[in-house]
Amino acid sequence: MTVNGAEVTLTGNQLILLPTEEPQTIAATDKAGNSSTVTITVYDGHDWDEGIITTAPTAAIEGVRTHICNHCGDTRTEAVAKQSSDKYPATGDTGSTLPWFALLLVILVKIAIFLP
Ligand SMILES: [Zn+2]
Repeated sequence: MTVNGAEVTLTGNQLILLPTEEPQTIAATDKAGNSSTVTITVYDGHDWDEGIITTAPTAAIEGVRTHICNHCGDTRTEAVAKQSSDKYPATGDTGSTLPWFALLLVILVKIAIFLP
């Protein structure tokens, strides 16, 4: 019996293959000279893809990112942090003060018109 062309000795009628991430061809030949081969690949664990968002996060709930193994198609999920709420502007934000000054100016002009 050979693995990738190299003769191997069975231990207790078992063949142990180490993870190589590469295809390994096992060839066996009987006493009559008939041979058979099988090629397998032994991976050392899963190979997860970058994943896709399967549940979008909101301000109230965490989202879910799902990864798929490139070898076996198994899936795993991980939490995606809740979205931060921008309901209230950060302290020092003056971007929304201009309309208030415009409204104040209009009121002052109206008051001035009705003054005697
Ligand atoms: Zn896998």
